[in-house]
Amino acid sequence: MRDLPMATFSLDREGPARDRPGRLSELLGDPDTRVLELSGDRARTKGEALALRAPRPGDLEQLTLHLGSHDGTEYVAVCRPCPEEEGTEASREEQLEEAPFASLRRAASGLSELDVALFTTALGLANWHHRHPRCPRCGNPTEVAAAGWVRRCPHDGSEHYPRTDPAVIMAVTDAQDRLLLARNVNWPEGRFSVLAGFVEPGETFAGAVAREVAEETGVQVADVEFVADQPWPFPASLMIGCAARATTSEITPQPEEIAEARWFTREEFLSDVAAGRVLTAGRMSIAARLIERWLGRRLDRLG
Ligand SMILES: [Zn+2]
Repeated sequence: MRDLPMATFSLDREGPARDRPGRLSELLGDPDTRVLELSGDRARTKGEALALRAPRPGDLEQLTLHLGSHDGTEYVAVCRPCPEEEGTEASREEQLEEAPFASLRRAASGLSELDVALFTTALGLANWHHRHPRCPRCGNPTEVAAAGWVRRCPHDGSEHYPRTDPAVIMAVTDAQDRLLLARNVNWPEGRFSVLAGFVEPGETFAGAVAREVAEETGVQVADVEFVADQPWPFPASLMIGCAARATTSEITPQPEEIAEARWFTREEFLSDVAAGRVLTAGRMSIAARLIERWLGRRLDRLG
């Protein structure tokens, strides 16, 4: 789990400096500051790297977010609405002239750990801004503050902070060390993964694991253990990877959510993947890594 994408690298977020008046102007006035351009949910890339640039006049007119620093370099994201919203002609022209934009899902496997951390933080924070333009108390439009880490209501003075929604994702094994995999009703035939679900108010991670597994498959679990976690900014999740031991084996899929669910031995899983009967999640996700941890080998080296 040590090379789990989006979970390996920590920026210095410089939290205490965020409230300094004029912090963003100060950062964008320094030609050494590196700017990540975000357009909708995509960032400008060049080959296998983010195409970071120097600050430009007009950056502050966009949604501007201080991501943090690393090795003495400061990083800022400048976020524009989706290309669809700004007229397709300009963006087509722009794409010819400059580096192309890529989504995090598409780009992550080739980017450096620093680039992935910058992209993940920028995307998670920008998603929150785009989805929370108004005050939840009074409904008035809020203003960006604290270098992009707070939205403040000018009407009642309330402050609102970026949200991260915890979700559990779990590898459930039985007494024979078989793994429980399921197919969501919205997934194509053959696609299987471990179960996952959001943590509800008043619930612990372990409680959410037990509830989700029981709700979706009828299987009871015990001994829930934390394995690893991963920011998942699509749009605002933190995936909490867990392992759990099943205490019952009969499966009753919840029809609204689960098209099919079954126990796999390693031999069954490997032969089903080899025969194309089972398709697994991309290696970027913690789901794939939980399956690999049980399997004892990498999924991209199967076959
Ligand atoms: Zn308000």
